[in-house]
Amino acid sequence: MEPSPDSERFSLTPIGHVISDYPDKFGIPRQPGLAPAANARLVLTKPYNDPLAVRGLEAFSHLWLTFIFHQSPDRWSPLVRPPRLGGNRKVGVFASRSTHRPNRLGLSLVSLAGIDTQHGVTLQLQGCDLVSGTPVVDIKPYLPWAESRPDAQAGFAPQAPALINVIFHPTALDALAKRDDGATLYALIEQVLSQDPRPAYKQKETETDRLYGVRLRDVDVKFHAHQKDEATTLEVMAIDIYPSQH
Ligand code: SAM
Repeated sequence: MEPSPDSERFSLTPIGHVISDYPDKFGIPRQPGLAPAANARLVLTKPYNDPLAVRGLEAFSHLWLTFIFHQSPDRWSPLVRPPRLGGNRKVGVFASRSTHRPNRLGLSLVSLAGIDTQHGVTLQLQGCDLVSGTPVVDIKPYLPWAESRPDAQAGFAPQAPALINVIFHPTALDALAKRDDGATLYALIEQVLSQDPRPAYKQKETETDRLYGVRLRDVDVKFHAHQKDEATTLEVMAIDIYPSQH
């Protein structure tokens, strides 16, 4: 007899939360590693913040994080519209990495830059694609000999997305020059915008007056698009400190 969904309920408890350079979902690259300058910390929660639980992890360069898409609605449908297909063609949810899926589980491969066990356990991560506050339910070390498959077929997403050109207005460069983290913030902005975070249906738009905003770290990055022939350039116009919530 088939088990009924109700007799097979499993509850998950977060082992910790991510604090990342991404305060909002908008602008986050669609997979990990696309913005290597993105820093994050995974702060483990009691009782999982026992240093014994991460013994040996420092010898691995990359980790798999299993997490909950906590900012996605708790509903799903069998078909989704991947942004890679321009947002107008549909594929099955299980043929996609959509955030709108049963159980809302996400999976990201991230670089491990360090482990701090002074007060509880904090992992320093690079290149993650998670919004700040994301609950993590498991960590596993990445095994390249078993899990790297360079010859694999990747369906409708056969290669990394094409990058677009990003330039900075002098006002934006001045704002960066005044910050201690100016160099890494410059790299983060360039990597994030080169993925073209504008909604798929806006990406062909030639309207250049429209100002978009993407939040990174504590700033609001204002940019607009220039279209020349077939080439798009995103220009960073201003970098404003985002008003604190407190
Ligand atoms: N690598 C993961 C995977 O394949 O399961 C995530 C892929 S998903 C397409 C990446 C997008 O999820 C990001 O661009 C961001 O907008 C969104 N996202 C990140 N953290 C989230 C969260 N906690 N809740 C909902 N959406 C999130």
